Amino acid sequence: MKNPVARLCNVVKTVKAKIDEPLRLELSLVDHCNLNCKGCTHYCPIAPQHLMPVDEVDAALSHLAAVDSSMFSYIYLLGGEPLLHPAIGDICRMVRRYFPTVGIKLLTNGLRVAQMDDAFWAACRDTDTVLSVTIYPVKVDYDLIEQLCRRHGVRYEVFHQPKEGRFFSKHVIDDINPGNRHVNFLRCHEIGCLTLRNSRIYPCATSAYADLVNNAFGRKFEHSEPRDGRHGGDYVEVQAVTSRTDLTRLKLRPTPFCRYCTRIEPTEWAPSRRSPSEWL
Ligand code: SF4
Ligand code: SF4
Repeated sequence: MKNPVARLCNVVKTVKAKIDEPLRLELSLVDHCNLNCKGCTHYCPIAPQHLMPVDEVDAALSHLAAVDSSMFSYIYLLGGEPLLHPAIGDICRMVRRYFPTVGIKLLTNGLRVAQMDDAFWAACRDTDTVLSVTIYPVKVDYDLIEQLCRRHGVRYEVFHQPKEGRFFSKHVIDDINPGNRHVNFLRCHEIGCLTLRNSRIYPCATSAYADLVNNAFGRKFEHSEPRDGRHGGDYVEVQAVTSRTDLTRLKLRPTPFCRYCTRIEPTEWAPSRRSPSEWL
């Protein structure tokens, strides 16, 4: 085990890296997924089928862009599996229209890429959207995906290719014996994953989608409402955002929900059995 000074230095280094990291917004366009991964951090195996309405994306992006169209360095389009959203090409174009200089990444598991039509590829190419693929231990022709990107003039990258035995970090949440939110926040791997859901921005998907765990397993994870829509709670109302500082503050301060995030454990990939122990 490392000595306490080395551990403290590591924590300080990690926190500094998170503070310096540019602001990023994540749009979980589809709650469900065409893969079924044990312990998915977006809770997809226990999510009902749901697509983020295009109107909701439009209302959120138009407000945020009016506040500051250069506030984000990246916007990630993800899910669940974002390629299950029938308007995915239109959403790429919408993001680019509102945020002319932002980096757009479309995070996919790759399963549907070979079925995407020319309109999708044209939208990715025209908006300079990067197809960012996570390589799972399942049967997908990842070389073909790279070739398709090259053929359509779309940028390709591998987002994540996990090491054997450490596919995911399992984020254990606990509403029965919660911990100290400040300590939990210092150990958190999700700082900076600002997530849009239901016209609110949460600091991470773990918090944004906790109602799925409540509904599936009868638990009681609760959110605290912010004062004035943006101070001191577990989220910021999109329409209450007045400057990028509102979101920087949400990103860098532990929220009340952080008390539930008690442990992080490396875990191997396996199909989900929708068992509470995958998340709790
Ligand atoms: S592919 Fe990604 S989003 Fe889909 S179930 Fe697996 S971890 Fe979750
Ligand atoms: S609620 Fe807080 S500690 Fe938990 S994952 Fe989100 S940012 Fe991290």
